[in-house]
Amino acid sequence: MAPSAITPESSGTTTPTTAQASTLTQAGIKHHNGDGDALAPLDASKMTITLSTSPRDVPPMNSPEVMAQKTCTDHMVTAAWNETTGWAAPELKPYGPFSIMPSASVLHYATECFEGLKLYRGHDDRLRLFRVNKNCERMRRSCARIALPDFDAKELEKMIIALCARDGPKWLPSDRKGSFLYIRPTMISTDPALGVQRPKEALLYVIIALFPDMSKSLATPAAPPALAGDAQPKKATTGLKLLASTEDTIRAWPGGFGYAKLGANYGPSLVAQGEARARGFDQVLWLFGPEASVTEAGASNFFVVWRNKETGKTELVTAPLQERIILEGVTRASILELARERLAPGKAAGALEGVEVVERKFTMADVLAAHEEGRLVEAFAAGTAFFVAPVGLIHYKGQDVEIPMGAEGESGDYAKVLKGWLGGIMYGKEAHEWGVVVDEVKA
Ligand SMILES: *Cc1c(COP(=O)(O)O)cnc(C)c1O
Repeated sequence: MAPSAITPESSGTTTPTTAQASTLTQAGIKHHNGDGDALAPLDASKMTITLSTSPRDVPPMNSPEVMAQKTCTDHMVTAAWNETTGWAAPELKPYGPFSIMPSASVLHYATECFEGLKLYRGHDDRLRLFRVNKNCERMRRSCARIALPDFDAKELEKMIIALCARDGPKWLPSDRKGSFLYIRPTMISTDPALGVQRPKEALLYVIIALFPDMSKSLATPAAPPALAGDAQPKKATTGLKLLASTEDTIRAWPGGFGYAKLGANYGPSLVAQGEARARGFDQVLWLFGPEASVTEAGASNFFVVWRNKETGKTELVTAPLQERIILEGVTRASILELARERLAPGKAAGALEGVEVVERKFTMADVLAAHEEGRLVEAFAAGTAFFVAPVGLIHYKGQDVEIPMGAEGESGDYAKVLKGWLGGIMYGKEAHEWGVVVDEVKA
């Protein structure tokens, strides 16, 4: 039956009057589009600037203050949004506390998402970001998953660049070539309404923190505290030591939100991470499902290099994105692109054998078989925080699986060459479109 044949009188449901219906429709349009006439878009060109009157001293690199990961630069950028007016003008202003209501949505319903990227001081003395557009686009996807407002990625990129241009010269000075600052774009819902509903207010902000170089010094205590029971790494291996997750601790699942950088993914992982640390491991290797699919390592993507049992070919393998239980790392994407371009069979440089790049499901059984049959070449974790970190050991079901770490015992060859290429782009040794130069504001 055609819809027009149902009259309001005969439908048997309460139907809004014409006037009510049109109000509802308008509200609906406004709500769902988020870009009606009245709503201001995020616009970095409207940014106001208020400089700090009490700038702080920059602590020495890797000092206790830096290790504590609480020190941020002098300024931050914020932009407020609400459902009726859209985005307010962004503000660059002194770094400092926010005032939000105790009933704010983010504090109750975890309406939050974030990004993580670095500002690099190049060996050529220039400041660079790495593929910042990818972080801004991913932030939009994270916002969409947690009912936070959309924006033009390019405008967020401009806000990030403005903050880096302002604080980079002082906080990442010329005598710190080859080091970095950590940038944290964040969105929270500040909506004070306690009702469980789509937020009507939000705050986008960008801060810059000082971080130790975690790709070099790892958190492994020299002598892990003795715990009753098993699961301690027995041999002094270099490289990351990973503790495989158990079936009662799942990071992400199909239909969930593991693909989005939501705070809600991380809080619940801290029990397992804390336990891994207490036992002397660096990170959790997140497995999924009864077949123990290998997904990610900590907050990094995970790669193995092995020789395929059937074809005998060397493969670089990482978990696929289709099920949406993997965070689509910018580092991951960059490694896959570089490997396809520069490590393809026949193209690989020097003594390195070419690899087939494969995004597919693989399980702990596959890793164990490759290990036992001597086909396992290396493994590494990759993400902004840990960069490219070779994996030396995986503890799984009471067994220590030692992963080859190359001739010098420090890194497999593929991890080393990929890290070198990426680092070259980040620190300006290789001119590449992925390296985005930041023009510094002179003091
Ligand atoms: C951020 C993150 C990564 C790495 O992403 P990059 O863009 O490479 O920094 C990987 N896995 C998880 C779960 C993450 O949160």
